Amino acid sequence: MPGVDLIIFGGGVAGLWTLNEASRQGYRCILLEAFELGSGQTIASQGIIHGGLKYTLQGMMTGSAQRIREMPLIWRKSLAGKQLPDLSQTEIRSNACYLWRTESLSSRLGMIGAKMGLHVAPHNLAPEEIPELLAQCPGSIAIMEEQVISPRSLIANLSHAFADQIFKYESEHLTFSLDENKHITSIQIPTSDGTPLTINTAAVLFTAGKGNEPLRNLVRPQSTPANVPFMQKRPLHMALVRGALPQFSGHCVDGAKTRITITSDTDSQGRTVWQLGGQVAETGVTMNRLELIRHAASELAASVPGIDLSGLEWNTYTVDRAEGATKTGLRPETPQILREGNLFTAWPTKLAFAPRLATELCENLHAIQVEPTPAESSWKAAFSSLPRPLLAQPPWETVEDWVSLDRLSALGSVA
Ligand SMILES: Cc1cc2nc3c(=O)[nH]c(=O)nc-3n(C[C@H](O)[C@H](O)[C@H](O)COP(=O)(O)OP(=O)(O)OC[C@H]3O[C@@H](n4cnc5c(N)ncnc54)[C@H](O)[C@@H]3O)c2cc1C
Repeated sequence: MPGVDLIIFGGGVAGLWTLNEASRQGYRCILLEAFELGSGQTIASQGIIHGGLKYTLQGMMTGSAQRIREMPLIWRKSLAGKQLPDLSQTEIRSNACYLWRTESLSSRLGMIGAKMGLHVAPHNLAPEEIPELLAQCPGSIAIMEEQVISPRSLIANLSHAFADQIFKYESEHLTFSLDENKHITSIQIPTSDGTPLTINTAAVLFTAGKGNEPLRNLVRPQSTPANVPFMQKRPLHMALVRGALPQFSGHCVDGAKTRITITSDTDSQGRTVWQLGGQVAETGVTMNRLELIRHAASELAASVPGIDLSGLEWNTYTVDRAEGATKTGLRPETPQILREGNLFTAWPTKLAFAPRLATELCENLHAIQVEPTPAESSWKAAFSSLPRPLLAQPPWETVEDWVSLDRLSALGSVA
């Protein structure tokens, strides 16, 4: 019967980064993916390696800002191939984000708060440095060295070094065996010929995003009272716009909020696609698709005065953020790890926090005396017949029915 030190369920940024970290430390570790690598939040994300700006907009150095401010330095080294995991094959959409505001006093205060104690603090641009797109924006325009990566290429890069330890499995036939102390001793998954494969393990990690809830309930159905949630989902309704647009990354700040966050990529047909997040995507949750498109277009026009929206095509997608539960229902400030015996359920909270989550998870393994098993790489042979998962496609490749603003006006208020 094959045996490992750690089985990770879920191949988003959290599971893949942890697979890299644990494997480098010598753990015999496999990752099981139920769908496609990155499907869920990672592929849908905007790929910004936040340095804490968003969290300082109230003018305070919050706990989130303190913890996240180290992250850009860690990512920058990996993205430059100067430390492991080597992410030098990850496509960097931009090395910096622009920052500008709508003309209001509270917006100005937001910008002051934004400058507090961050490693990637914004600095104002000279008039000749301002990009054409923002030429008509009021007030000063700043830039900060917040890198923006392509999530799909990140997943491809992160899954490369230990690709022979990543497998696809049928999650509906998964079972766990527990000992009398409720420690997981093994799992059973079906193989392609239908016969079950039992894998002994010293520890199990769930990094399956919103899939963490059903997984964890499978192992510990009774341990949390129904009215005490351990996980929360916060929905977003993101807007997409494609066509004759420049590649651009930036945040339009209004008071203590990011009114709109723009990131861009190129689709399979060579068109520029913008993802529109920030407050637009939070507000968008209460709207249907066409309502959000109208709202996003008007927010974009208000945030980027003079922008030409003619000929562009619009769409939207919905996605849930999955996080460890907080009493307030607001976003946790840090990565969350729920430890129950030799079972860990984890959420990075932000893509940017993935390195920190992986480090903390390995520290947790040591804390429960799960140590790397000295082994030849021959242990992997037992899994070689298991299938491999594909990489998820970005949202703009999977959504259908793109609509222009002209067609939208013709549709009137019909949703
Ligand atoms: C629209 C949006 C924009 C964002 N933008 C940013 C940003 O710019 N910067 C930032 O730092 N953060 C951002 N975030 C947050 C960030 O994307 C998430 O915190 C992070 O991607 C979560 O990663 P994860 O690996 O925990 O989960 P996920 O990415 O959701 O991955 C979970 C994986 O588990 C798999 N899975 C599900 N069920 C099972 C199962 N039963 N068994 C095995 N596998 C399973 C899924 O298929 C998937 O591969 C954004 C989030 C959203 C939704």
